Amino acid sequence: MSGGDKLDFEIRPNLQPVPAAERAALLANPGFGRIFTDHMVTIRYAEGKGWYDARVEARAPIPMDPATAVLHYAQEIFEGLKAYHAADGGVTMFRPQANAARFAASAERMAMAPLPEAAFLESLRQLITIDRDWIPTGEDGSLYLRPFMYASEVFLGVRPAMEYLYVVIASPVGSYFSGGVKPVNVWVSPHYTRAAPGGTGAAKCGGNYATSLVAQAEAMEHGCDQVVFLDAVERRYVDELGGMNVFFVYDDGTLVTPPLTGTILPGITRDSVITLARQQGRTVVERPISFDEWRADAESGRLREAFACGTAAVITPIGQVRFPDGSFTIADGGPGETTMGLRQILVDLQRGRGEDPNGWVYRVS
Ligand SMILES: *Cc1c(COP(=O)(O)O)cnc(C)c1O
Repeated sequence: MSGGDKLDFEIRPNLQPVPAAERAALLANPGFGRIFTDHMVTIRYAEGKGWYDARVEARAPIPMDPATAVLHYAQEIFEGLKAYHAADGGVTMFRPQANAARFAASAERMAMAPLPEAAFLESLRQLITIDRDWIPTGEDGSLYLRPFMYASEVFLGVRPAMEYLYVVIASPVGSYFSGGVKPVNVWVSPHYTRAAPGGTGAAKCGGNYATSLVAQAEAMEHGCDQVVFLDAVERRYVDELGGMNVFFVYDDGTLVTPPLTGTILPGITRDSVITLARQQGRTVVERPISFDEWRADAESGRLREAFACGTAAVITPIGQVRFPDGSFTIADGGPGETTMGLRQILVDLQRGRGEDPNGWVYRVS
């Protein structure tokens, strides 16, 4: 693939797929990230050789030498997107080209080989096609696709690896938060930050999640579903949640969201919300918003709604905000109209319903 020539996928169907009756039972209540399809895609990269050995094969454990670089230096990135059953019986993805571009940007930040967009999209198409029967049919259901890549070279030494393995696996999912759409409580972490200027906050790398887990555990100890991270320099401004971007809705209909300054993940849902809200005629402002401002505006009633967004949970209202000295509630703590309206527009688009003026729906079949 190094010369720009097309990558051919060798297809080796799983000879022992999950029987249809068992698959149907699993799909009846998939949860999130618990069950997996019959196949995976793998593509290898070696310095000087480029991308090679693209395969669709039975999902199986990947044997790994204990000196594999990723186990020591965490050179790893991933993506997350979904395939949907469309209203007309086809299968769609939502803006997968944006995931391809972000995957390449994450690779660059982590000094890894970038996978060309065409190979990324084709890998998804291959897996969705062979595992099509695993896409849940219900309104809440979708096939969560997890492309990832890691340093597969066997060596101990601090430099970018010269070999990478790219893999895609797929997991049928229902609703991200058990119980469907209901407001979440969030915990503002007093001790931990997620990303500093110049760091890896804008890259979708496993390491960012590794460092967020202790704060997430703290959130759960305080009865919260998610953690809110403040900026690493002043510990004043809201960055984002552990795995979702955040929006604030004011009484004049304006939306405010923290700007992309390198410390937050440039969410594709975030970008879609900004575009959709502007197309509705709303003002959307990307600017720093401090925790104190959030609290004061919620208490005065000027702030009407707050929500988190990302592929996994789409748009989730924020009900209550907790921190070491207390808590405050956003409006009456219930899901807001603007939040739920934007959610419905996004969900309809993803399912291929209604107009798609931005050309975001990607037809797989
Ligand atoms: C993936 C991710 C998001 C959401 O991105 P989407 O493209 O909308 O799914 C937000 N924050 C973090 C830290 C993420 O890893």
